[in-house]
Amino acid sequence: MDPKLLTIYNQSFDFGQKGVVTIPVGKLPLGPKIGVKVFVYRATKPGPTVLLLGGLHGDEINGVEILRRAQEDGFFDKIAVGTVIVIPLLNAYGFIQFSRDVTDGKDVNRSFPGSNKGSMASRVANAITKHILPNIDAGIDFHTGGGQRYNFPQVRYTTFDSRSETLAKVFGAPILLPQKPIAKSLRRSAKDFKIPLIVYEGGEALRYDDDSINHGTNGILRVLHHFGMISQSPTPTQQETYQKTTWIRANNSGLVETPIKSGIYIRKGQKLCEINDPYGESKTLIISALDGFVIGHNNCPVVVHGDPLFHVAHNAPSLGEEDE
Ligand SMILES: [Zn+2]
Repeated sequence: MDPKLLTIYNQSFDFGQKGVVTIPVGKLPLGPKIGVKVFVYRATKPGPTVLLLGGLHGDEINGVEILRRAQEDGFFDKIAVGTVIVIPLLNAYGFIQFSRDVTDGKDVNRSFPGSNKGSMASRVANAITKHILPNIDAGIDFHTGGGQRYNFPQVRYTTFDSRSETLAKVFGAPILLPQKPIAKSLRRSAKDFKIPLIVYEGGEALRYDDDSINHGTNGILRVLHHFGMISQSPTPTQQETYQKTTWIRANNSGLVETPIKSGIYIRKGQKLCEINDPYGESKTLIISALDGFVIGHNNCPVVVHGDPLFHVAHNAPSLGEEDE
């Protein structure tokens, strides 16, 4: 898919052209308009069209920064074939409020495919479904852990979708997680359009994490190289694929002291952290119930019963709770 004229919203781009188009989604109470800013880079020769999207959750800044650096470093200026569509910041409302969600408190990634008459989250989702998804062959959606949860660099791709699996492997993050797309997510809508779209997760909301940013920018280069758009890319990282993930949760409330961080293997029976009551009168040990690799952890020192502490990837047949 790469027509001579690529039209996004009200603007058309010929081969060899680049430019910016803003898809309107609403305005702030004091008047300024809010839109989705779309950067288009077209090579002189046809080829695949790849979407790179950040800031779907407005406080997940690493993805925004990955795409900012990629543009600043000229990743897309000299592509040999095809088209790259870059949306560094989808959720401008969340971004200016330091929030995952839009103004109405709804999650854009639970509002796809969206509607231009729906809630604000639905309108933002609709901008992508209507103007972007029909024009792309593949996509990467950049995220971080939500709240105060850190995600070790990882890619989630759609189960039983070989093109998504290939894209995930090419991207080259250290951890691969084949997972069913969440209902009403962008990845789910992409599946309906038969477009391979992977989700890269790295770092934590409202925090820069250089390791995650570097894995993200290197992943972009590998994907561009895979599609023949650029001639060189970074060497692949070693990758592990896990079929399941399980959250280890707080079994008491209090202050958590967390010696274990993401990026290590843990064993069943291993002490992971202590939960201390704030008055120093008691403590609870958190012991791992499984072997696995820690792909996420909670950085908030205060927890209550049931709060997530460690996200563990593994290949055990079934250990109860699963989550994304
Ligand atoms: Zn997210």
